[in-house]
Amino acid sequence: MSIPPQSGLLRVTLPVPLRREFDYLCPLPLPAPGCRVSVPFGNRTMTALVLSHPADSDIDATKLKTIGAVLDEEPILAEAELRLLAWATQYYLHAPGEVYFQALPTLLRKGEAAAYRSTAYWHLLDAEAGVSAQAVKQQQALTLLRQEPLTAGELEVRGISGAILQALAKKQLIEKREQLPNIVDWRTTGTEVADENKPRLTTEQALAVSLIQSAHGFSPFLLEGITGSGKTEVYLQIMEPILKSGKQVLVLVPEIGLTPQTISRFQQRFKLPISTLHSGMNERERLDAWLSCRDGGTAIVIGTRSALLTPFARLGMIIIDEEHDTSFKQQDGFRYHARDLALLRARQLDIPIVLGSATPSFESLHNAAAGKYQLLTLSQRPGTATVAEHLLLDSKHVQMNAGLSPQLLQLVEQELAKGNQVMLFLNRRGYAPALLCHDCGWLADCERCDAHYTWHRHSSRLHCHHCDHQRPLPPSCPSCNSRQLVGTGLGTEQVEQALSGLFPQYGIIRIDRDNTRRKGSFQQHLEGIRNGKYQILIGTQMLAKGHHFPDVTLVAMLDADGALFASDFRATERFAQLYIQVAGRAGRASKPGRVVLQTHQPEHALLQDLANQGYRHFAHSALQERQAAALPPFSFQALFRAQATQAEQVQTFLQQLVQQLLPSLPSSVLCLGPLSAQMERKAGQYRYQLLLQAGNRRELAAACRLAVALIDTLASARKVRWSLDIDPVELW
Ligand code: ADP
Ligand code: ZN
Ligand code: ZN
Repeated sequence: MSIPPQSGLLRVTLPVPLRREFDYLCPLPLPAPGCRVSVPFGNRTMTALVLSHPADSDIDATKLKTIGAVLDEEPILAEAELRLLAWATQYYLHAPGEVYFQALPTLLRKGEAAAYRSTAYWHLLDAEAGVSAQAVKQQQALTLLRQEPLTAGELEVRGISGAILQALAKKQLIEKREQLPNIVDWRTTGTEVADENKPRLTTEQALAVSLIQSAHGFSPFLLEGITGSGKTEVYLQIMEPILKSGKQVLVLVPEIGLTPQTISRFQQRFKLPISTLHSGMNERERLDAWLSCRDGGTAIVIGTRSALLTPFARLGMIIIDEEHDTSFKQQDGFRYHARDLALLRARQLDIPIVLGSATPSFESLHNAAAGKYQLLTLSQRPGTATVAEHLLLDSKHVQMNAGLSPQLLQLVEQELAKGNQVMLFLNRRGYAPALLCHDCGWLADCERCDAHYTWHRHSSRLHCHHCDHQRPLPPSCPSCNSRQLVGTGLGTEQVEQALSGLFPQYGIIRIDRDNTRRKGSFQQHLEGIRNGKYQILIGTQMLAKGHHFPDVTLVAMLDADGALFASDFRATERFAQLYIQVAGRAGRASKPGRVVLQTHQPEHALLQDLANQGYRHFAHSALQERQAAALPPFSFQALFRAQATQAEQVQTFLQQLVQQLLPSLPSSVLCLGPLSAQMERKAGQYRYQLLLQAGNRRELAAACRLAVALIDTLASARKVRWSLDIDPVELW
């Protein structure tokens, strides 16, 4: 092919759901890989990211379009990040554009300059200037500005209002100038990076710290420590020498774990710039944090899943707290696992990585057993903190009151009388998970899902928890007109109602997604718990994660039976993790605690194991079962999901795929399906899936690549929405 003179070829990626890259012509000099360009695409102009300068294109030069403009002089992603994303594209077999653009803040996706926003700073015009002694505030403002220029916001928190500033500006003593934020090189700010008030480490902590600190290059550690055993203290101490050497540290936390409490522990220890990255930030905040991380202005980044894709100038260590948490896996679009990509990133950068948890994922335990991770254990709590006592309460033949047995109520009463707090868990919000006509048996079912509506009594509405559809509570039965509509089953609202009737003298707070939607309300509830406004805490698993309440001495899980009979093979692992997490809420301070589990199966081996032997023991036997059944982590899975408004379209698509795929699959690759999802119809869509499983990743990847290529040739594929999930953590 012939390329026009003074031009070259660019291979770019575009944020479109196509598994391919695109070539464009570009005038010389060509922008480097990692720069953005604007390009014509269809009848639109889009932002694209340059991946390479190919020598040749499959498309004839006369048909190639020319880019619009070069948007970056310097690459916005460095070579290391581009390599990580290229690997992720290959591994997850996902559309490259969606992978690369996932790593960019929204403003950069939209083509905005990769630059900090300038901010208005107030400057002193005349260093000698003064005002009359009566104008106290004006004098204060001048004194402050004599030291350094400040923004209106910074002055505001020091008690200087906008009006004062205007008055001084009118006298021509100060003026506003636009300038960039002051990015300091914290490496030169001295050696005193950490607060010297560190606790003395326990023997186990000291061992963990010294082993991690003596590691060189890529070395993965699994830090298994019971709740309250001081994992965070270990993180803080291993970070210190890394930070002292001028390198950055990335701390990944689950979605729900990024609380002011978490951040303030890092702030108290280190006198260094800390950034957070999470979904609650606005676009500008995100871009500024992203830039400062990339430029090295930030020493510590604490963030949720997507923070892993952020570029770092000098990344020296990655820490993943609560590594078992499923929020590290993205469940739609580019379905990556931040923990798995973090390991890859650490390997590429040749740096240590620490995975911490009280309840490590089976994958990580398996890797530790195989010698891929070094296992470090914290089995004790420092100081006087005690470990909770575990009780299994048999629900069989027991007369329950809103899901609470008399025995449990008695325990609740005892603790309340002692001035302690109690915490009750039920993973079902609303008043009742179904509404039923007592006269004719009619059930309120969602029209768009194979599911019942949940009755929300507070709002007097029916709510489908699967498609989010809501409608008012019917005044009478639509089928027989009876007014005898009753809830069946138990939700958190009902527990709250029963307990406020039984214990009117105590403060009760319910914490679930329904009453924490308003911004700041979750923090407000937590504050109320901490300052003793509430004694009875009822919640879904939202309440279980990471929050430390010293006065909680009793925690109870009201219904443990669901997990024992769930169809997903990971249900027991999840339940065990939740149970241990919930149990960790009791007895964290000096007060001994109790953990109660209500179940119809108190003799169930899993529950016995958990309550009496602990998570590690449970995991050991559960892993043996997985091995016997050749399930992950002893094999690898990939899941093709498909959905459409007509069941037949989905079935046809997957059946054709299987027919064409099977003859080419080696016998070592298992192909299960098409199977309907557990809830076949959701939000009006029929959902089916095809599961591929193999003993090694290479064979599985080859099978998936083949399947994706086949799908491209199937006409039936165009009538459905399909996706591929590599290493799925949920089978729907
Ligand atoms: P984890 O992260 O494992 O749940 P934390 O790091 O939050 O545990 O520690 C629990 C509590 O124990 C915290 O209040 C922490 O300050 C304290 N702590 C941690 N290590 C020590 C230690 N070596 N000596 C005294 N207190 C400690
Ligand atoms: Zn009826
Ligand atoms: Zn629904």
